[in-house]
Amino acid sequence: MKDGGRKQGTMSPCAACKLLRRRCAKDCVFASYFPADEPHKFGSVHKVFGASNVNKMLQELPEHQRSDAVSSMVYEANARVRDPVYGCVGAISSLQQQVDELQTQLAQAQAEVVHMKMHQFSSDHHQPPSNSSPPSENVYQSSRFFSSPNKMGQSLWSY
Ligand SMILES: [Zn+2]
Repeated sequence: MKDGGRKQGTMSPCAACKLLRRRCAKDCVFASYFPADEPHKFGSVHKVFGASNVNKMLQELPEHQRSDAVSSMVYEANARVRDPVYGCVGAISSLQQQVDELQTQLAQAQAEVVHMKMHQFSSDHHQPPSNSSPPSENVYQSSRFFSSPNKMGQSLWSY
């Protein structure tokens, strides 16, 4: 669809050449990545990076990497337009913060699990558990817990 019907002389310019008001040559570096039906993509990339810089960045890459580079530039440019101060760094640091918070929560939950299993284990040996769990389940869970100390140690204490 991108290149469908592109023929010398009758072709319509790609989104980049249309915005730059120039003739879209047969070997136009933008044509494969900025189709005429998605003008906003080149619009924001041009606004943030400038057409000649985009051209230069694409020329420096092997062709199989150019499409990914364009996606990344479009993402970065859109983020910069939305957030002129932080750009995509705003999104990255907000997600990083979420990751940190969730890792803290996970560590707390895992510590709680260990605490509960320890408590359950000592209850089994000294007195019946005060909660309503059936004793058979407790024995099963405690034996499973203590039969694989290495696995538990790795998953719980490697943080
Ligand atoms: Zn073009």
